[in-house]
Amino acid sequence: MPIPPQSAHDYPSLLKRWKKAVCETGLELETLCEAEGYSVPVIRNRRALNGEAGGLYISAGVHGDECAPVWSLLEWFESKPEILSRLPVMLFPCLNPVGLTLNTRLNETGHDLNRSFTDTRLEVITSWQKVLEGCRFDLSLNLHEDYDTRGIYLYELTRRESCGDLLLSACEEVIPRELASEIDGSPFDRGLIVRTSEIEELVAEQLGGGYPEAILLFLKHCETSLTFETPSEAGLELRIKAHRVFLERAASLATKRADA
Ligand SMILES: [Zn+2]
Repeated sequence: MPIPPQSAHDYPSLLKRWKKAVCETGLELETLCEAEGYSVPVIRNRRALNGEAGGLYISAGVHGDECAPVWSLLEWFESKPEILSRLPVMLFPCLNPVGLTLNTRLNETGHDLNRSFTDTRLEVITSWQKVLEGCRFDLSLNLHEDYDTRGIYLYELTRRESCGDLLLSACEEVIPRELASEIDGSPFDRGLIVRTSEIEELVAEQLGGGYPEAILLFLKHCETSLTFETPSEAGLELRIKAHRVFLERAASLATKRADA
């Protein structure tokens, strides 16, 4: 179903469509917590609920002014990808519904959630930490957008061979790569930065001690953690498509790796 641009920040419509899609696929949707009357959902399949290790973690909507990822994740889920029945899957369709509604990066208490994943004063974070306790994934995907760049790019944190270039190659057919050699103070090579170590130093020196979701996931819960970014000044449909290609390729990579 195509998304009319005027509804890109309509959280109740987004949640309604998620509930219908979850019903059709037989997964479980639970409320992680409430945020000013909006429920923040977490969706898991049976394997994830049983605590099986491996599989895929995905989140979107951490920053409310980045709306393409939330719709793309929904569209991908509605296409009933094979991975939903094959491997453990945990999804956070929109961690900042108030931000999405207001088209702002921050949440209702003025926090940038993506610098707050160890901040236990925030209910959404303590609830998230509780759900994640003891969980171990093969791959995590964190979907974002950037209004300062013209192309797509990817942060890859990994303990094995890099897959970032392969994924960017698939997505650049929709939106070209960002070619800047530096993005947000970090060195990039054709839209990709790969890190394997000194992650805590990076948080202390570049992020003022605030933990992003992808970094905490990499340190505690997964082997590879990818943050994919589209340029939020590009057309909404293109951005949704780029995230969709990213999701499809990353999920198929995770499935192939589990089969190997
Ligand atoms: Zn973001």
